[in-house]
Parts: sequence; structure tokens; C-alpha cells
Amino acid sequence: MTPITVKLTDIRKSFGGQEVLRGIDLAARDGDVIAIIGASGSGKSTLLRCIPLLEIPDQGEVSVGDAQIRIRDAGHRFSRAERQTVRRLRGQLGFVFQSFNLWPHMTALQNVMEVPLHVQGRPRAECREEAEAMLAKVGLADKFDAWPAHLSGGQQQRVAIARALAMRPRALLFDEPTSALDPELVGEVLRVIRALAEEGRTMLIVTHEMTFAREVSNHAIYLQDGRVEEQGPPEQVFLDPQSERCRRFVGMQR
Ligand code: ADP
Ligand code: MG
Repeated sequence: MTPITVKLTDIRKSFGGQEVLRGIDLAARDGDVIAIIGASGSGKSTLLRCIPLLEIPDQGEVSVGDAQIRIRDAGHRFSRAERQTVRRLRGQLGFVFQSFNLWPHMTALQNVMEVPLHVQGRPRAECREEAEAMLAKVGLADKFDAWPAHLSGGQQQRVAIARALAMRPRALLFDEPTSALDPELVGEVLRVIRALAEEGRTMLIVTHEMTFAREVSNHAIYLQDGRVEEQGPPEQVFLDPQSERCRRFVGMQR
């Protein structure tokens, strides 16, 4: 068995009395591509944000690679050792959001180099070389010096993907990476993500692009009201779901 890269155990989270995640278990092994689908408000983003602990669960265990955090109650205060573990855990993850969040005052290349250079403290020449390679990989070899404002949404999102890759993550998390894009720009971003999946990268992808999700994933999870209502091979979840509610959801998305 390949090692488990990302593992969540019994994750629970409430916002002001509303329980948004009601005990979620999930495991991604090296090379797994997990598609997470579900209606708006079902808890997909909250779940994804719990992995890098951008959202702190009220309860449960998060592990990424060899970094593991266990939370026993809401309002948990991290000890110094746990804060170090959180940093190590985050350092193994690349996150791509719906909004690209590029730094507007930096060129594409500077955006991609920033974390490796100034946070990870790697040598400048190496960071530059790798940033160029990552931009080339996402089809932007001619845009190193472009400002974000001069790039299309699809190009900006590809810079964001290159930036996530340059951090050398063990796993990539995507939260609706194409839903802020004009329809004609969706394809170029999905193609890049698909190529990464084919390289065997571990990825968790929240998306409403059903055909893409079915084709790219090897495991799919349907969330409803903060619970895993259905999960399994994508052929099952997208084409022949056991749960009536999942059946209705994927039927509506087609
Ligand atoms: P999805 O990504 O599936 O649309 P979310 O995880 O964003 O769902 O949200 C799930 C529920 O949690 C929604 O009802 C949302 O309003 C609520 N929620 C999410 N984040 C917060 C927050 N920071 N404060 C209060 N409520 C939140
Ligand atoms: Mg969301």
C-alpha cells in the first residue's frame, strides 16, 4: 500500500450553533485524486479548509504526511509544539482557491517564486529556475513578466496553480478552481489540472464540473448537510449512485 498523504478522522465543525461538518472521514493515498461534490452550502469548502487548518475543526484529527494534529474540543488552543506541526502540515499542501489571489504588485514569476524564496528560504537561482519551469508547465512560458491585471482569468488561475506547485507540496487542494471563470476559459484550467492528475499527484478537488470530476478522479465523495452521503469509484457516484439524494444531485448537474 502506498502511504496515506492526507487523512481526516471524524472531523466536526459548527458555526454559531449550525453543524456544518458532522463527522467526516477521508483518506487520500499518494497519487489519489479525490473529487468532492455536493450542493452549495453542503460543507465542501469548510472541509477543504480544515485540511491546512485554515479552519480549525471543533473535533477530529488531520494528518498530512508525517504531520498530525488532533483536536478534542472547540476553541482548542495550540501549544508551541502543535503550532510547529501546523506549519509543517501546511508546508506539505498547495491550495488553489476559486479566486486566484495573486499578489497584484508582483509579476507572474515573482508570484510563483515568493513562497519558495521568502518563506521556504530556498536559493534564489533554484527558485527562479523552478518557477520558470512551473509556469512553462501550465502553458505560460511567455508570461513570466506579466502583471496579474494583464492576464485573463484562466491565465491568472494557471499562475496560481504554478505557485502552488512551486512550493513542492505532497498534495494539492483545489476549491472550485474554475467557477470564477468565463466559460471559454474553463477548459484551459481543467486541462492543466488533468495533466497534474496524470502525473500521479495527490489531489482533492471540489468542483461542479461533473464530467471533468468523473474522468479525473479515482474516488468521489458526495457531501450532503455536512456528511458523506455517498462515496466510491467515480463511475458509481456519478453514473449509478446508491443514494437517492446523490442520484438527484448528479442528475441535476448533467
Ligand atoms: P460549500 O463550499 O459546500 O458551498 P461551505 O463549506 O462554504 O459550503 O459552507 C457550509 C455552511 O457553513 C454554509 O451554511 C455556510 O454559510 C456556513 N459557513 C461557512 N463558513 C462560515 C463562517 N466562516 N462563518 C459562518 N458560517 C459559515
Ligand atoms: Mg465552497
